Amino acid sequence: MRFGAHVSIAKSLADSIDRAVSSGCDAMQIFPGNPRGWQPSFLSQDEAEDFRERRSKNDIRPVAIHLPYLVNLGSPIDRVFEASISSIKNTLAKARLIDADFLVTHTGSHTGAGYQIGFDRIIAALNEILEEDFGSTKLLLENTAGAGHTIGSRLEEFEKIFKKVSFDKRLGLCVDTCHAYAAGYDIADKETLDHFLAELGSLIGGERLLLMHANDCKSQLGSHLDRHEQIGEGSIGLDGFRNILAHPTLQDMTFIIETPRPVPGDDVKNLQTLKKLAPSRA
Ligand SMILES: [Zn+2]
Ligand SMILES: [Zn+2]
Repeated sequence: MRFGAHVSIAKSLADSIDRAVSSGCDAMQIFPGNPRGWQPSFLSQDEAEDFRERRSKNDIRPVAIHLPYLVNLGSPIDRVFEASISSIKNTLAKARLIDADFLVTHTGSHTGAGYQIGFDRIIAALNEILEEDFGSTKLLLENTAGAGHTIGSRLEEFEKIFKKVSFDKRLGLCVDTCHAYAAGYDIADKETLDHFLAELGSLIGGERLLLMHANDCKSQLGSHLDRHEQIGEGSIGLDGFRNILAHPTLQDMTFIIETPRPVPGDDVKNLQTLKKLAPSRA
């Protein structure tokens, strides 16, 4: 079991490793550039090498890159749809430069155009992206809380998506605990969690669950509101996280926090909480 945080690359990409290490991370997630922009920021070969060196020296793995918020593979607007595909392709190129393990993206939203239109766009986008050379990087689709017109809050939706791309081995799933809970899966409860993971296994294959986002949830079960909370202070709670971390199928999993940071040092605190709740670390 490994733990990490979403770390800022504002100063420099290589420095983000030091920040991750000082927060107590074994793994990390970054944005490819400005999280509110489309394209990854420029990265020289030297910077990439510096990052790879510091990363292997500190044994930070896996490294995930979270696509910017603008990316929407389900968009009915051509300009947004095409920019989303090119953003993922360019980020994939950056991921290969730094040997990032995962690219994480939300599946998308049809923004009111209709579910089928959004769904078909997502499949078309994935087929185009999967023509690229991925190296050792995998593309992970993240579950959503199901707000508005978003696609991908239910496991059955991922089954349909994975089926359409013939269960391509370069595609996996990232489960965000807050999003799952807000979507209506009471994963804080032992039995429901067990059922959720069994369903995930039978619909898309347990080996496709490659990353978890560990976030507590400010909103209520089934509220569809994506509001992250500090670990133990939300509706999933300490007992909920204890159950999640104790589940037998999650013992080799990596958990990345994306919890609010009103105070510097909150990441340290949240990571410590998770490590204390985890059964025992080998
Ligand atoms: Zn997340
Ligand atoms: Zn979220």
